[in-house]
This record gives sequence, structure tokens and C-alpha cells, in this order.
Amino acid sequence: MSTEPSRTDSLNAYEAWPVLNKGEDAPLLQVRNLSKHYPIFSKGFFKQQVALVKACDEVNFDLKEGETLGVVGESGSGKTTMGRAILRAVDPTHGSILLNIEGRYIDLAKVPEKLLKPLRPHMQMIFQDPFSSLNPRMTVRDILAEPMMIHQLASGRELEDRIDELLRQVGLKPEHRIRYPHAFSGGQRQRISIARALIMKPKLIVADEAVSALDVSVQAQVINLMRELQQELKLTYLFVAHDLSVVKHICDRVAVMYGGRLVELADTETLFSSPKHPYTKGLLASVPNPNPRIKMKLGIKGEPADPSSLPSGCAFHSRCEECFDPCKTIRPEITQAGNSLVACHLH
Ligand code: SF4
Repeated sequence: MSTEPSRTDSLNAYEAWPVLNKGEDAPLLQVRNLSKHYPIFSKGFFKQQVALVKACDEVNFDLKEGETLGVVGESGSGKTTMGRAILRAVDPTHGSILLNIEGRYIDLAKVPEKLLKPLRPHMQMIFQDPFSSLNPRMTVRDILAEPMMIHQLASGRELEDRIDELLRQVGLKPEHRIRYPHAFSGGQRQRISIARALIMKPKLIVADEAVSALDVSVQAQVINLMRELQQELKLTYLFVAHDLSVVKHICDRVAVMYGGRLVELADTETLFSSPKHPYTKGLLASVPNPNPRIKMKLGIKGEPADPSSLPSGCAFHSRCEECFDPCKTIRPEITQAGNSLVACHLH
């Protein structure tokens, strides 16, 4: 069975979707006003909404084909929720997620749940923990074959050849196909996760803390593998991470999130050499220095904002050393400042 006809057939259901831009420079992904809010209800018979957790709020960005966009921020900043909402692992509250599939933009946010299946091969996720994300009762062969069989993209000899090819691409051997996940090291397990994400030749991969659980030496191997595969297969990564040195190494651009919102977006060199937002400056100042004689600076004071009761005005104002009066009442919108996009009244 050939792979390509099934992919095109699967898009027939979306012929009514608008063709927005077929030009070569059309981004692969356009995210507009993407929000994911979770209402909190009171206990008891008459449940009433008592709070609203704005896990991801009004996020906008474009992602070009072949690009790696890093998403950084403290725990609870909304980076993982945003990545999951883009893949429709959670349903967005509002906004649009336009994915360019064969010249046609499909708004993933509006696609009904039951019609998502044919779109899944175009977007995949690599999870943080390769051990819990791989079924321990399945062999590597079955783990890799399952998505292809569910989506009826290959069978028989073609399927087996594709599994062997992929195992080689991620630095494993075809004979590893009969082993179970527990027989591999952490790095090898993450290679299997990467192979599973690649098996359907996706365009977009959301890597959610994909190397955080690995030893430093293994991290470097997996990152180099991801870069090699990106060049070979023209992959586009949304790379969610908290380790800024990894982000600096692998990403073309970096988005910084705080309190569910994007507060700065710039190319990697600009962001690291001249950060504009006080929160970005604090994150960079918090990176540990390998020299034990140098006393570490406390990059950002206080605790991250509670997304269920964000402060008025700028959500960062209670922790910001450059806070001035308007910051407490007026929420800064993201605007161009030099080569960066920044949401801060100072810019
Ligand atoms: Fe600090 Fe004000 Fe900028 Fe917020 S808007 S980061 S409080 S200076």
C-alpha cells in the first residue's frame, strides 16, 4: 500500500477549508489568539464558577517550515498547555491554529474531534519521559507499527521496511525491533519515542521537555539526532523546555511565556544577547554558572503568578524590579521593540 495516496485522501474531508496562502513563504503554522482556560467550580449541588485558570491566553506566533521555535518559562507559565492545545491534545477555549497542509490552511481549533484522525499524521509529539510514554508490554516493532496500522498508511513488507529504515535513522538497529522498552537505556528509549513520532512523516513535532529527563551526555546525543533528522526530513519543531542552554543550542527563535501569555519573542541570538523583558532577563540571570567560586545571583524574586488569580495589569509586576505605576493597572500588549516582540511598558 502506498503512503501518499492515503494522506491525500484523508484531506478530502477538508476541501471546504479556505486556501489562505499557497506562496512558498507561507508559514507552516499560524497561531492566533490561542487560549485555554479551565473554569473552577464550587463544591456542592449548585456548582458555581469561582475562578478561571488562564493556562494559555491570547498567544500569537508563526512557525516557518524547517524552523525550531523554543518555548521557555517557569513551571505553570503555560508552555506545555500551549503545545498540547496546538496538537488538540486539549481543546482550545478560543483562537485559531492554522496548519498548512499541502497548501491549504486547516484551522485545527475548529476541526471537530471525530474529524481529527486524518490530521494526526501531520503533527506529532515527543514526551518528556520516554519510559512512561512507551507501552512496556509492546515490542519496539509493535510500538512503531501501531500508528501506521491505525491510520492505514502501510502494511506487510512496506511497513516492516519502514520500521527498519526508521530504526536506522534514529541510531538503533533493525534487530532491536523485537525488544521491549525496559531493555533500553533512557537515551535509547527517547530514540524510540522519536522514531514513533516520525513514523508517519509529520510536518510539525511538539517536543515537550524531550531531553529534560536524560543525562547530560545523552541529552547532547538526542539533541544532535533531532537536528540531523530535522535537516534530513525538513521537520519543524516547537521545542518546549526549561533548560535555556539547550534552547540556545537547538532553536532558531525563542518565545518566553509568563502567566499563560507570550511576553517576548525574538531570534535566539537577539534574545540571549539583548533580552528586553525583565522576566527574560531574570530567567537568563538564573542560569547556573559552572564556576563554583562565582556566587549565583537570584534572577527573579518571589513565586510564579497563580494562573487562577493573575495580578491586574502586567502579571509580572509583583516580581518586577522595574515596575512603575501603569504596570499595576494596564496590561501591556506585545509590540515590536528592535528585533524583538515584547509585552512590557518599558518598550
Ligand atoms: Fe515590569 Fe512593568 Fe514591564 Fe511588567 S510592564 S515587566 S511590571 S516594567
